[in-house]
Amino acid sequence: MKIKTKICTACKQEKPITAFRRLRSAEDGLNSRCKECCDKYVGRVAFNRMLKGATATTEEELLKILRVVIDELRNRGFEVKAQLERKQSVEL
Ligand SMILES: [Zn+2]
Repeated sequence: MKIKTKICTACKQEKPITAFRRLRSAEDGLNSRCKECCDKYVGRVAFNRMLKGATATTEEELLKILRVVIDELRNRGFEVKAQLERKQSVEL
């Protein structure tokens, strides 16, 4: 039995239809982006929206935004292992 595949509009990769979420409004009933790209996209949109709304872009503010994004990802079943390290020197 041949596994049905679909090409993701974002990463242009051919993936099995199980890699796509269902979308009732779509012609074939599936999202045009694969799950992976979808999540990346959703995260980026949320991040941009929050960044735009943030008037203060202090490090603390940025970390707060990052935590919101990470929390959201955790809520969506992701295992997030995030660690930030401040570089001692900055090359210009
Ligand atoms: Zn994709």
